[in-house]
Amino acid sequence: MQTTPTTLHRRVEPLPWHARPATLAWRRECALAGVLLLLLVAALMGPSVAQPSHYHDFADQRSWGWLPHAMDVISNLPFALWGMVGVWALLRAVRVRAVSGAGAAMAGLFFGGLWVTAAVSAAYHLQPDDAGLVWDRAGMVLAFAALLGLAAMRAVSTRAGLALAAAVLVMGPLSVHAWSLTGNVLPWAVLQFGGMALILGCAFIRPAQARVLPVRWGLLIAIYALAKLLELGDHAVYEWTGQLVSGHSLKHVVASFAAWPVVCALLAVHKTKAESTALFTRAQAGRLAKARRTTTEMRGQA
Ligand SMILES: [Zn+2]
Repeated sequence: MQTTPTTLHRRVEPLPWHARPATLAWRRECALAGVLLLLLVAALMGPSVAQPSHYHDFADQRSWGWLPHAMDVISNLPFALWGMVGVWALLRAVRVRAVSGAGAAMAGLFFGGLWVTAAVSAAYHLQPDDAGLVWDRAGMVLAFAALLGLAAMRAVSTRAGLALAAAVLVMGPLSVHAWSLTGNVLPWAVLQFGGMALILGCAFIRPAQARVLPVRWGLLIAIYALAKLLELGDHAVYEWTGQLVSGHSLKHVVASFAAWPVVCALLAVHKTKAESTALFTRAQAGRLAKARRTTTEMRGQA
């Protein structure tokens, strides 16, 4: 029996976009866009919130020689140190291609953001006032945008992660600028707490892309929560420790440890990649040796 070309080579027409089944990434992208819209409405339409008037009155006012507010300034150093450790771990992972281009860009933005945080936060604490706080907050946005980008990349999709990071890089400085103009700190608070809520949400759903950096988000959120508690208890911690160290100084040190889960993730993907490369090389060497033996045997028989 002869089969006609029409039955064998019938062209399969692709479904129109509205009839295609929604993928997991697409559904989550829509959900993420909805949450972002709600946060934007809350930031723009919510009641005006003023920053506490005593915000700049930190517990530890001690100077060391020429250095005012010494502990609050020096305690920013761990941000820079973690930034250096992070860049080292990132370069190792990139060298063996253990991390995607987008993942590497986000991790690079995060560790670069830690350096910026160290610089602007130290500068702010030399002379704490509103003008310095504008730079302090704007500096934090880089690392925060990168963390949100990494979380969304793993939980949703690469383009969602990139879009979210870009949105935070724009909305972060805008919210700080809005506060400096109007005194309303709500948009900044929504960005910060809404962002952490998003990371929390991303942490507890099954990853859509398991190969993106496996950061332990639960640990990162615990570190952030501890840093916030120390910030709130600035004066209380200063008294509890017999005026040795304040809550705000400890907050800087604890917050810098947010880099730890990201560094661990980079070390983990580097190890996995190095092991799989070694296995592949061993298998290839085995195949080559077997081929050589076979050729020698065939020549011997001839
Ligand atoms: Zn500070």
